[in-house]
Amino acid sequence: MNASISAIPFDNSYAALGEPLSVAQAPTPVQAAQLIRGNTALAASLGIDERWLDEEHADIWAGNALPPGACPIAAAYAGHQFGQFNPQLGDGRAVLLGEVVTPDGQRFDLQLKGSGRTPWSRGGDGRSPLGPVLREYLVSEAMAALGVPTTRALAAVTTGETVVRDGLEPGAVLTRVASSHLRVGTMEYFAARDDRQSLQRIVDHALKRHYPEGCADEIPALALLNAVIEAQAALIAQWQLLGFVHGVMNTDNMLLCGETVDYGPCAFMEAYRADTVFSSIDHQGRYAYRNQPGIAHWNLARLAEALLPLIDDDTERAVAMAKDAIQRFPAAFGDAHSTGVAAKLGLAVLTEDEVDLANDLFTALEEDGADFTLAFRFLADEANPGGDGSGAGALFTPGAKLKIWLPQWEERLGRESGDAGERQQRMFAANPVFIPRNHLVQRAITDGDGGDFDFFHRLVERLAAPHRYDAQDRDLALPAQPQERVFQTFCGT
Ligand code: AMP
Ligand code: MG
Repeated sequence: MNASISAIPFDNSYAALGEPLSVAQAPTPVQAAQLIRGNTALAASLGIDERWLDEEHADIWAGNALPPGACPIAAAYAGHQFGQFNPQLGDGRAVLLGEVVTPDGQRFDLQLKGSGRTPWSRGGDGRSPLGPVLREYLVSEAMAALGVPTTRALAAVTTGETVVRDGLEPGAVLTRVASSHLRVGTMEYFAARDDRQSLQRIVDHALKRHYPEGCADEIPALALLNAVIEAQAALIAQWQLLGFVHGVMNTDNMLLCGETVDYGPCAFMEAYRADTVFSSIDHQGRYAYRNQPGIAHWNLARLAEALLPLIDDDTERAVAMAKDAIQRFPAAFGDAHSTGVAAKLGLAVLTEDEVDLANDLFTALEEDGADFTLAFRFLADEANPGGDGSGAGALFTPGAKLKIWLPQWEERLGRESGDAGERQQRMFAANPVFIPRNHLVQRAITDGDGGDFDFFHRLVERLAAPHRYDAQDRDLALPAQPQERVFQTFCGT
């Protein structure tokens, strides 16, 4: 006989802080919940009994039934969207079901996205079409497997309802897991209302949850600012190293915990181009690939502004301390980025000469129009001429400029100490073969819209091991053919 299913380990600390940080808000039931996929490996790591992800519990992940211990809320937040401040955004199509505490004591939010209207929905329906749910599931889980801090996907369900966007689309709900959903925009919301008490409560909550070493700091708000700067510098470096373009880096889409959030119009670059933009609404290229570090810096300055009243009563002193903190972002990003570039090239460090070598490589890739991911994997396969390689190197043919560049790198690599085979293994780990290429994500969505999730499942499973090449999945490693290319992505919400 099966043991009875154990309760989801809820412990809802943010809901306990009450209004005005959040309002109680139940999800709105849907017509016919059907499970598309449950992430049992993630459930296990969260200490959630995997059987909660069986089809018979689809109602929970659709918002039709509340699991014991849940305490659903919609959270308040503001944000700068494309540079313009909007003092009131908030969870308009999501509710936080509650927080779970894992067996090793880590705390995570479980959020239903697409769960119906809330007081923050304004004109919106609070729902999500299937496409964005599949995209977020695929890309967030791929990012996790690539080692990038990110929100995760625990479950995806269809609702049996349609949502109106360009036309009628099938509706879906995603269960998102995050270390927390506290955003830069959460702070901005209370700063704009001059509500210092709420600001202080969120600072204390965020520190305790994400950066407990900062709790004892003399100025907790400054400790939080510094910690978020470090976390974001490391995060954005990882994005750049993988060619990930977030697409909508508004301050409400930047988490204090340093995880990637909001996989709307995001996409991975194929051919390397620093000015790559995918989002259909990013007309100025504000969130282009090359602008991401600068935008993160700008967003962090908005966080600093929001925290000023908690840093010092004397505004001048507060501004001086905040500026000092913010100024450290470019160096923190630069360090993380050059460490990562060195790893991608198989080098222990990047000296000044090697920064030039790396920059020359990026120029060569851009001039060749080379696929960013496969070019680096080609280098990894080249790094140990005596060895077997991974086979993925053969997916890439170096262009004219890269051929000119290669001998300098090979010469430099020859001067590295250590075992070439081990170095190559480290390069494989830094240079994935499989990324969620746009045309593949698009195919999963198109099939899914027609009720066929086979390709979605295949892609999820392949992307869970992105560094290990298998010739059977060659089609999932190759760049889009000209007729498959996707140039624009849409929020689709
Ligand atoms: P996002 O584009 O996901 O960053 O969302 C920006 C704001 O718009 C947030 O306050 C969302 O809750 C809200 N929003 C987005 N889509 C919807 C929708 N379908 N219904 C209601 N609110 C929405
Ligand atoms: Mg958002």
